[in-house]
Amino acid sequence: MTVVESPESIRNMGVDREYIVVTNPITGNSIGQTPITTPEEVRAAFLRAKAAQQAWNALGVKARGKLILAWVDLLWEKQSEIIQAIRDEMGKTETSAFMEVGVIYNTALYYIHHAPRLLRPQTRRSGVPVKHKARLYYKPYGVCGFITPWNYPLLNAWQDLLPAMIAGNTVLLKPSELTPFTSLKVVEMMYQVGIPRDVVQVLTGDGRTGAAVVEQVDYVAFTGSTHTGRRIAMRAAERLIPISLELGGKDPMIILKDANIDMAASGALAGALENSGQVCVSTERIYVERAVYDHFVERIQHYVQRVNLGTGDGIDVHMGSMTSEHELARTEAHIADAVEKGAKVIFGGKRRPDLGPLFFEPTILVDVDHSMQVMREETFGPLVPIMCVENAQEAVRLANDSEYGLSASIHSRDMKRAEAIATQIESGDVHINTTHWIFGTTALPMGGVKHSGMGRRNGPEGLMRFVRPQAVLLDNQMLDRPKLALLDDFTYRVVRILLRLRRRFPRLFL
Ligand code: NAD
Repeated sequence: MTVVESPESIRNMGVDREYIVVTNPITGNSIGQTPITTPEEVRAAFLRAKAAQQAWNALGVKARGKLILAWVDLLWEKQSEIIQAIRDEMGKTETSAFMEVGVIYNTALYYIHHAPRLLRPQTRRSGVPVKHKARLYYKPYGVCGFITPWNYPLLNAWQDLLPAMIAGNTVLLKPSELTPFTSLKVVEMMYQVGIPRDVVQVLTGDGRTGAAVVEQVDYVAFTGSTHTGRRIAMRAAERLIPISLELGGKDPMIILKDANIDMAASGALAGALENSGQVCVSTERIYVERAVYDHFVERIQHYVQRVNLGTGDGIDVHMGSMTSEHELARTEAHIADAVEKGAKVIFGGKRRPDLGPLFFEPTILVDVDHSMQVMREETFGPLVPIMCVENAQEAVRLANDSEYGLSASIHSRDMKRAEAIATQIESGDVHINTTHWIFGTTALPMGGVKHSGMGRRNGPEGLMRFVRPQAVLLDNQMLDRPKLALLDDFTYRVVRILLRLRRRFPRLFL
């Protein structure tokens, strides 16, 4: 079996064009190749998208919503094809791929329903009542560029693309070089339901194509590593274009002593092992109060033996393959570093070549501390490092001792106390007694603080980032006469009366 570490770049014989070979991580076999889109081609795609944007915007939000609805219905009908496409290039379980379809279905319906209201022009309170009218319009940026990772090829692209399109932008999508086929398939479905080709274009390629997209577009939405995000932010700053960044995480889970320990132990595995740990919001470190530490470790050992690692279909397969040798090697390096510094592996820790080239056992580590990479750097693998803490306060302090701040979770039977503790954690979201559901809760904004990113996807915030407000102030010239300065004698007196009134009744005209 050939193991391809990362997509191989090849030059097609005779034609001066580079291609990337895409590999099925489960078999190690090539499943096809996609061209590397050149900067000139990216420029041409941008110009087509720019030309198409006015007509797309003029359609109106409801008409755009109808087209998106037709597309998402088709996606739902053809879900088995999409699930297979995701699994073929990514190696995940059927359930994880299904979740991508489910989340995107929700996202589409949420924005189709809420966007017309959220984007409606508004009238705001004016400074000079009766005479002035204050109006607000939301205008799309123009052409938005999306650069996305490989771990959720459908979800991570379309969760952001959909609100941008509904808001009236046209879009360029540069999917990960590891997983381009899902996007190519899904965009064809958009064309099938009548969405014009220039409204949404997929540009395959590697980081060079991504960088070329950043050079052209009016807005960049990036999902990927903090390292790449920083480079994109620097270039976007030079171009003075707005961006949103969904970056890496090192999400803590806190187990309080009043937690249901069976639920916490099994929940910790679900949180750490979904998609083989290759999730930005993966549970990557666990802090357990001393009073329940031994019990928790005993129960997690019990449950981890029941985790079904495999290649098969169905809901009973809990964990699939990892996606690249690069991720697997980092996982092993984090284990080695932790063990060298005194940690113990109490379950797993080995590759499973009998299942496929990139399978790795769910791995539980104890006796870990913050000197170890496994507690500080994003692993993106199926590791569960568990640390004993004295109390909730220490747990919160350690949870916040990180350069990341994406998601977090707390297990406790006292939901009120847990909610209060949640607000002390420096992260974009916190889950109580569960994990990951932020992705399925479209009404809530999702995103990071610190090095986990900036900007929010989902919720009204995830739509409004793709529009810029334009204020329009209308003066009906009531009682006006020609004047040579902003404040003539009459206006000056009116303004003084208004300000006096406001001093007397501060809430008036707010
Ligand atoms: P990556 O940063 O290596 O690549 C992401 C994308 O950026 C790819 O499409 C890649 O081709 C492109 N790219 C690479 N160099 C570029 C450059 N110089 N300019 C423009 N584009 C460039 O990340 P990855 O390995 O694909 O994804 C894993 C990372 O993504 C993890 O850190 C994970 O936490 C993060 N992630 C975050 C979220 C979130 O919502 N916060 C979601 C999923 C993944």
